[in-house]
Amino acid sequence: MSQLGTLEAGSRHDLHVGISPDAPDESEIRDEKGAFGYVHSYETSSRYDGPGLRVVLFVSGCLLRCTYCHNPDTWHLKDGTYVSAEQVLDRLRSFVPALRSLDGGLTISGGEPMVQLAFTRRILAGAKQMGLHTAIETSGSLGDRADENYLSNLDLVLLDIKSSDPATYRSVTGRDLAPTLRFAEKLAAIGKPVWVRFTLVPGATDDPANVDGIARFVAPMKNVEWVEVQPLHQLGAFKWKAMNLDYKHHDTPTPTRDLINRVHEQFRAAGCRVR
Ligand code: SF4
Repeated sequence: MSQLGTLEAGSRHDLHVGISPDAPDESEIRDEKGAFGYVHSYETSSRYDGPGLRVVLFVSGCLLRCTYCHNPDTWHLKDGTYVSAEQVLDRLRSFVPALRSLDGGLTISGGEPMVQLAFTRRILAGAKQMGLHTAIETSGSLGDRADENYLSNLDLVLLDIKSSDPATYRSVTGRDLAPTLRFAEKLAAIGKPVWVRFTLVPGATDDPANVDGIARFVAPMKNVEWVEVQPLHQLGAFKWKAMNLDYKHHDTPTPTRDLINRVHEQFRAAGCRVR
């Protein structure tokens, strides 16, 4: 059992490693009650991770290994701070008036929120009880875990679709594409609002056929409000170095304006609203 820590405001760009060495492996966590969990950090004033002003909680644990991940220090529970859901909700409560007045809410990101399903469910339910808008950012890879109760506590899903091609998806994430597409279809079937996020990585995900595949998959889904194209950046590269990980994108250029425009145009041509 890890030792309970203190939840402190931070940034997704802070490096957190080895904080809870006794934590279980993220692939083996048995998180049935969700009273406690592992958190990387939280930010209090994002205008980027959902509508309005957001508190963003970055939880630990992810089973993907995206080659361009900005936060490899969220992959393992042992690198997070062990906190109680009540601690998280107490902190959140103090921001409620500001979040409400600026049409915002809570977004849980990571890491992958559905690794700690019961913990994030408890926090989302608590946020809903405070009258807040709720969202998660997810790869959808564990979407089969999201039952009706989990989804009922969510107003919006920020769904990262990293590729439409199974081979490309595997090469950039180390995992299968199918669960993500299945989760997208499940959300479409119940009309749950979704913003699709696509990370544009030159030489890895920028192939026109790859982009077209996502665009054609997403365009018919009436619940998808936006497609957000996120150009690769190098703000997380220092973490790979500090953690002795092999970062493959040191020399990958930031996408040019022309490339970004081409990808936007591909989504628009398929009928998606894009930004
Ligand atoms: S899904 Fe997100 S947190 Fe997990 S490896 Fe990919 S980019 Fe990193």
